[in-house]
Amino acid sequence: MLEDSLPYSNIAVNDAIQALQQGGLVAIPTETVYGLAADATNIEAIQKIYVMKNRPANHPLIVHLAEPENNNLTEPDWLSVLTPWARDVSEEALRIIFAFWPGPLTLVFKKDRHVFNEITGGQDTVALRSPAHPVAQELLRKFGKAVVAPSANRFGKISPTSAADVRNEFTNYPDLVVLDGGDCDIGIESTIVDLSNGDCATLLRPGAITPAEIFKRTGVVVNKPGVVFDNQLTARVSGSFRAHYAPTTPLRIYSPGRLLDCLSEYPDIKTRVAVAVWDSDSSLNQDGISYVQINEVLVPAGSVEFANRLYRVLRDLDQQQWDLILFPEPPSGEEWDGVRDRLQRACFGSGPSLSSHSNN
Ligand code: AMP
Ligand code: MG
Repeated sequence: MLEDSLPYSNIAVNDAIQALQQGGLVAIPTETVYGLAADATNIEAIQKIYVMKNRPANHPLIVHLAEPENNNLTEPDWLSVLTPWARDVSEEALRIIFAFWPGPLTLVFKKDRHVFNEITGGQDTVALRSPAHPVAQELLRKFGKAVVAPSANRFGKISPTSAADVRNEFTNYPDLVVLDGGDCDIGIESTIVDLSNGDCATLLRPGAITPAEIFKRTGVVVNKPGVVFDNQLTARVSGSFRAHYAPTTPLRIYSPGRLLDCLSEYPDIKTRVAVAVWDSDSSLNQDGISYVQINEVLVPAGSVEFANRLYRVLRDLDQQQWDLILFPEPPSGEEWDGVRDRLQRACFGSGPSLSSHSNN
């Protein structure tokens, strides 16, 4: 992204810093989704995040860190950024950081004893990330401190991928400072890898950076738990609730060629249905579906492009008040794990009448 083309100004960044210094919240662009940021050293400011998002108090927040200012960055440079927050940072962890930060990868470490419980949800671990977005980095650098920032949406709802989305989420907070850094490049939340258990690295949330990529670039094996939303993880990773990232309109996933079957599961489903279709496919066969008004929406057939569009399409369709939204089942393959995870949870949490159907 060219810095010149960004719809923000130094004035906006300075205003944001002032708001943070005064204990206020600021919505910030990152390459994943927009975050709702507070000074990570100010407990009252951090507590405002929970109130504004309506987020349960035991849901930990990610600490966002500035990239060290050194033209020839070394692993020890990163270590000095981590030390106030994390302990037991292994050589493998530094290798991962060196390969992927700044970037869409959150790492969980044993926490330093000074880290507030309000950040960690009372756990002995802390989640850290250095975002790649130039506006986020500029803010962090000029602010001179870390910020904590969950996604800038009401708890359980769709994460925002533009400044306008943030404003639509928080219409009851018209004074919220929103730094406009354009549309998010990645479009889904960061990959989270737990490095707090000695030699064992575990994937807590799939995202743009896959375990295969981490292995390829660092030689570190990241284990994938079989079931991401088991009870043990539920309290640890907010996105691990089965219902999350959810639109208000009922949402369902259909298998290839099984649209009719999917529709027939909802005999009382009304009339207006929005159906997402791979842009690589020919148009839907609507034979036998004359009782429903179907609107086709093309979605990209590549995993990266699909992730970039997913929340945008869900938000837009949600606002158009369809009776039902149908999405095609993502293909198998690790590069689709992130969007498959988000879609399944979005289904599960969507419109009350359908929640019992989803995720099966
Ligand atoms: P969000 O609130 O959507 O930005 O997501 C932030 C994610 O980071 C949530 O899923 C948090 O639960 C997760 N997270 C933050 N701290 C930790 C931690 N110590 N251990 C595991 N996950 C964490
Ligand atoms: Mg979130």
